Amino acid sequence: MTVRDVRYADLVDRYDLVLFDAYGVLVHGTGLMPGAVAAIELLEQRGKAYCVVTNDASKLPENAAVRYASLGLALDASRIVTSGMLLESHFRDHGLRGARCAVLGPPDGLRYVQRAGGEVVPVNASFDVLVICDESGFPFLEMADATLTSLVRMLDAGREVRLVVPNPDIIYPDGTHAFGFAAGSVALMFEAALARRYPGRTDLRFVRLGKPEPGLYLHALALAGTRSAVMIGDQLETDIAGANRAGIDSALLTTGVSLGDLHDTAPDIRPTYRIARLDR
Ligand SMILES: [Mg+2]
Repeated sequence: MTVRDVRYADLVDRYDLVLFDAYGVLVHGTGLMPGAVAAIELLEQRGKAYCVVTNDASKLPENAAVRYASLGLALDASRIVTSGMLLESHFRDHGLRGARCAVLGPPDGLRYVQRAGGEVVPVNASFDVLVICDESGFPFLEMADATLTSLVRMLDAGREVRLVVPNPDIIYPDGTHAFGFAAGSVALMFEAALARRYPGRTDLRFVRLGKPEPGLYLHALALAGTRSAVMIGDQLETDIAGANRAGIDSALLTTGVSLGDLHDTAPDIRPTYRIARLDR
């Protein structure tokens, strides 16, 4: 199957619901992506349902809306679905309500864990769950080292610890031509260190909640009450792979992380469409 090039304005007419990735599509680390405001305006004019599905678990939806507004993009908090919101069902389904949780991330990351029913404890205490919500908002190496020290102390003593990362992203666009490491990279760092300490143990892996897992999409589809949806994203391995797993169409926007050459792209990360810009 070849990937079809399509104009944004034509694409959105084919679906009831338009899903957007945030970073690399609507926003970057310090501002708006080109065409973001026009893209939302067009949907408002046409009365089309839309929603942001983001792996960012550093801000509660209401605070993400405030941040987007400060950048010039008006978006109601009810239209924002984040990987942090998935902690609630994860904690419920795995009996983790009331669990002692060490959390790496800014204050809203801790609030996500509390909303899910977790009890947030210091990283140098004993804990049942480690949640890496974000790579920002704390003294990185100091707290990562303290967390690793606690983990090794508990694992050496034979205790079980559950590892969860809502945002499995490795990289994010931090400005128009700059990039940053995301929370998934921090999880990989812990996994690599634990693999050295405990060779052969295959259970010391993080549960990844956000894209490319289908949970975020299924949550957004349920909220909108439709299966007729297209996902617009900038990363094949997260946005597009997740859409494919959720069974919906997708479009790669080629101004973010993934490049536009799709000739040898594997079927599981191949988008339905490719779009070059959001403002027409
Ligand atoms: Mg992105």
